[in-house]
Amino acid sequence: MGLADRPPPRLLLPLLALALLLSVAGAVWLARAALAEQRAAFETDARIAHRLLSQQAVQHDAILATLALLQAGGPAELTPEQRLPSVYPQVLRVLRRERNGDWPGGPSEIGTLRQAEAASRQAGRAALAMVDLGAGRYTLVRAAEPASFALQIDVAAMVPRSEWPIAADGPVSVHLLHGTQQRVLQPAQGRPATWAFDFGKPLAAESQPFELQLRGGAGWQQLPWGAMAAWALAVFALLTTAALWQGQRADRRRALELLRLGQVGRLNALGELAAGMAHELNQPLTAVLANVQAAQRLLADEPPELDTARGAMAQAVQQARRAGDVVGRLRRVVARPELGARLQPVRLADVARAALDLLAPDCRRLGVTPVLAGADATTVMAEPVALEQIVHNLLSNALQALAQVPVAERQLLLSVAAQAGQGVLAVRDSGPGIAPEVLPRLFEPFFSTRPGGLGLGLSLCETLAAGMGGALGAQPAPPRGAEFRLALPLAVEGVS
Ligand code: ADP
Repeated sequence: MGLADRPPPRLLLPLLALALLLSVAGAVWLARAALAEQRAAFETDARIAHRLLSQQAVQHDAILATLALLQAGGPAELTPEQRLPSVYPQVLRVLRRERNGDWPGGPSEIGTLRQAEAASRQAGRAALAMVDLGAGRYTLVRAAEPASFALQIDVAAMVPRSEWPIAADGPVSVHLLHGTQQRVLQPAQGRPATWAFDFGKPLAAESQPFELQLRGGAGWQQLPWGAMAAWALAVFALLTTAALWQGQRADRRRALELLRLGQVGRLNALGELAAGMAHELNQPLTAVLANVQAAQRLLADEPPELDTARGAMAQAVQQARRAGDVVGRLRRVVARPELGARLQPVRLADVARAALDLLAPDCRRLGVTPVLAGADATTVMAEPVALEQIVHNLLSNALQALAQVPVAERQLLLSVAAQAGQGVLAVRDSGPGIAPEVLPRLFEPFFSTRPGGLGLGLSLCETLAAGMGGALGAQPAPPRGAEFRLALPLAVEGVS
């Protein structure tokens, strides 16, 4: 990774903070979702447990009602009550009171049973007697004629193990409550939960008003750590990618801006140079003109004043030499002899593509679809910035030419080829073309046919091309248009 690929340091802290925030928010969301899921599972289990126990309680009512009905057969054959405990494991004992008899048991037991029987008779349903949840027992009495019955129930045996939804080694505890009494139907195993789930509901049997209570929960170890870590990783990866991409984009923009500024700067420098030149040339050229005109006049005199005319011509020659010196100085500045030292292998097609990329908005605006063809791998020895500038100028000129013809006729073809030890990039447009009288002057500095044109572009390009040991030429492109060909020495084979 290059230095330029990294996000700028001032962005690092806010980015880190954002990543942290997103990771934590996502992890909390995932944990809450997981806990909600576990709570829902707990509640489903609790409802199943409640339904099963309620069914058992209702069954007790049904047993008592059935016993009351079956007694019509006569006391001698009445054995179902003796058989009941073997069918229903929770029924410990069946008690019976004949019409004229009394309940079996001690005096206090008989008293309670009588009381419950009266309550049952009044309510028209079974009634509770002797609830001892601590010992896991209670008695359910049903008043009937001629005999009344009571069932002694074993609470622990009410739990139908085969259908019981709650794991015995799990974190859920199950209690049965009655007033201040309670019976643990199932204790919780393991560590106490960090997040508690509660469920409480009376059994759905009026005769046995017990409250079923379940308590469960989840701990840290039940959180979806894998998913949470994956989320945090994804956030960091995404933000890092986004930051890198943003950084690269900014770098690219900066590079383009620098290139543009460089060009503008160079043009400015050239403009200043031209102004200075004009200033410096103005004086000797005016003097040349004045001296030549004076000599003309002196020679036209009768008799001609040859000596003075000779002096004027000598002055003119001296001034013309000064002008020549000024031009020579300019040449030395523009020749850029240092170019040759910075040559390196460059792919012509890459440079063409980059220049097209830079001018893509102009192409779109003009409705021009450039075509790049030829030997893609052609590699020349060039100074990359100078080469970019030449190609950019040629393309700009071509687009300016194309703007002068109807949209439907605008074509721009770039081709790359290797010929006779040189790599050639040809830029061909279907613009108005170059008039025959203009063709020989194209590369002259300050020659322009465009209003407001500086006329420095092509001359600069030619100088740059020559500085890299290459050449730039122009020719008409029949049926209409112009073709500019840039030839540069091919890079040594194997270097590309
Ligand atoms: P400027 O663009 O400032 O005129 P240049 O040196 O780039 O300076 O171009 C000089 C002249 O060459 C232009 O004024 C134009 O007449 C001619 N020229 C350059 N490119 C093309 C082209 N693709 N088609 C026709 N004429 C062109």
